[in-house]
Amino acid sequence: MLVQFLPSKPEVDLSITYDAVVVGSGAAGGMAAHVLTSKGLKVLLLEAGKYQDTSQILHSMEWPYDHPRRGNKPPDYHALTSNEYTFRNSPYAAKTPYNKVQSYVQGWSGTDYSKTLVVDEKENPYSGTRYAWVRSRVVGGKTNIWGRLALRLSDYDFKAKDRDGYGENWPISYSDIEPYYDKVDLYLGISGHKENLPYLPDSLFQKPNKLTYAELHLRETLQGMGRVLTPYRAGVTTEGLKHNKYRSRCYGRGACNRHVGGCDIHAAFDSPTGLIRPAYDTGNLTLRPNSTVFEVTVDKNTGKATGVSFLDSETRKSYQAKAKTVILAASTLESARLLLLSKIANSSGHVGHNFCEHMMGPSVAGYVKDLVGKPRTLDDGKPGSFYIARFQNLDGKKSDFLRGYGYEGSSGTTMTPTTAFSTPGFGEEYKRKVRDYAGAMIEIGAFGEVLARYENAVDLDPNLKDAWGIPVLRFSYKFGENEAKMAKDMAAAGREMFEAAKIEVVRASSEMLPEGWSIHELGTARMGNDPKTSVVNQFQQCHDVKNLLVVDGSTHVNASCQNPTWTIMALCWRSCDHLADQLQKGEV
Ligand SMILES: Cc1cc2nc3c(=O)[nH]c(=O)nc-3n(C[C@H](O)[C@H](O)[C@H](O)COP(=O)(O)OP(=O)(O)OC[C@H]3O[C@@H](n4cnc5c(N)ncnc54)[C@H](O)[C@@H]3O)c2cc1C
Ligand code: SF4
Repeated sequence: MLVQFLPSKPEVDLSITYDAVVVGSGAAGGMAAHVLTSKGLKVLLLEAGKYQDTSQILHSMEWPYDHPRRGNKPPDYHALTSNEYTFRNSPYAAKTPYNKVQSYVQGWSGTDYSKTLVVDEKENPYSGTRYAWVRSRVVGGKTNIWGRLALRLSDYDFKAKDRDGYGENWPISYSDIEPYYDKVDLYLGISGHKENLPYLPDSLFQKPNKLTYAELHLRETLQGMGRVLTPYRAGVTTEGLKHNKYRSRCYGRGACNRHVGGCDIHAAFDSPTGLIRPAYDTGNLTLRPNSTVFEVTVDKNTGKATGVSFLDSETRKSYQAKAKTVILAASTLESARLLLLSKIANSSGHVGHNFCEHMMGPSVAGYVKDLVGKPRTLDDGKPGSFYIARFQNLDGKKSDFLRGYGYEGSSGTTMTPTTAFSTPGFGEEYKRKVRDYAGAMIEIGAFGEVLARYENAVDLDPNLKDAWGIPVLRFSYKFGENEAKMAKDMAAAGREMFEAAKIEVVRASSEMLPEGWSIHELGTARMGNDPKTSVVNQFQQCHDVKNLLVVDGSTHVNASCQNPTWTIMALCWRSCDHLADQLQKGEV
């Protein structure tokens, strides 16, 4: 039986000086808490949101007909559509008639279960250029609902400048982070299949999910083209984790495809059960939910961080916490916001800049003719379908754009056939057609690297504040020419692969979705060896304030095209190991 998580009381001891105060409890903050507490250090973890028990609220196995609105949110809730990010000006919720307005992910099916996990845009506005920003203010942050594709970066990413001359190299190589990827794999569990690709290194995989017939067929075709389709590399334990009593192994219950995300038995990694609860059990962690940090405090004489100031998110009373080290893990953009609010660590002028992410939109869907009319199979009983690894701009011919992209894909029979909405007609004939084609569909959607550019940035809006009176971010961010060229190539290459596999293409798009859609915001406090052009060093310590670390995606030097969460956690583990060492030696 799974052990439930007990949130700590908000009355924490603020008279003592902690070894570290960690801001934010998502992938990065949870990892910092785990690594430091396991080394005997006393950690105060401050989280702006409240604790919510996802074992109780996600209802991963509930059938739509058992829910009063088939999983939909109440009528006074509204999810922004992709169009609204275009025709409305930010802040997007300002002139809407709805009580609660949330980001676009709440437009997916089953979002009534996750409506409390995602922020209300009215309380949390932002301004500037178009950006679909998805935020979760709750213990565990976005890991409570993440898609769990868990990929490694390689030296094709860390040393990308050496290959094409663009941007900056990271101050680390794959060999520096590899042991930490291994630690993350073993501690949290990951499923997948070894492919021995230098540009998409393998993890220490548990059992992979099975590919469907359509996927195996496409995999074989792609082998002939020198491209690789591999089972979804999921941050999910398929064989169980003996050291963690809060998580079950995946039973492939078919639930992943039904709701917005999350797993109520925690086979899919989430920070509360994967990291925070084990950290709590060491006796070294103090967790204070409902704690909105608004400033890093600094000793004017030494220039060192002394702790943070925060508001109780409910009572709005303000407090101070003292610590030997401060660790920002509030997510890429929120950590940059905190640095800007505190007016520190920015002698380079790079805080908020070099903002990057993944571009999405180009996609192809089709059906495998051999499967039309065949009996249906249980294909949504797994935590993900497949991934096609990057193949452009590796070692051979270079294309007319820089860097690369991969595709996430899915196929087979699902509870609600995707064909149901696009099939014309009605009655018996309509139902027969939907059933016949339901298991034959296969689709892929691309994720590509958006180049890190200094001019893509966020700063503080001089006028606009959030519901807590804290200045909000103003975006100045746009896709450029490289992304537009890449989008065309993504669509053409997708069609080319489907046609080679004799999959009948029924839908194809080369349109880019709005900026922000990937939910993989990165950069804004990049790492580097030169304090003039970077904010943190290779151990994520601010060049200007040695006892202040930023351990989330803000320190990425470029976005690569691989999903970032596994890298965020591996880097954080490495930095916290180093910090613990330095604390022991009295060097910070
Ligand atoms: C629907 C969805 C699908 C995704 N799919 C994938 C995927 O397949 N693969 C992948 O790699 N990534 C995916 N992601 C992204 C992934 O969730 C993030 O990369 C990851 O959660 C980042 O961790 P983080 O700790 O930096 O931020 P978060 O998880 O967002 O955690 C940050 C925490 O900081 C808290 N915080 C913010 N500001 C303050 C403050 N001022 N004071 C105190 N606390 C604060 C927040 O409340 C939050 O709990 C997905 C995300 C979503 C929403
Ligand atoms: S398929 Fe596995 S990871 Fe997904 S909800 Fe079910 S048990 Fe959880």
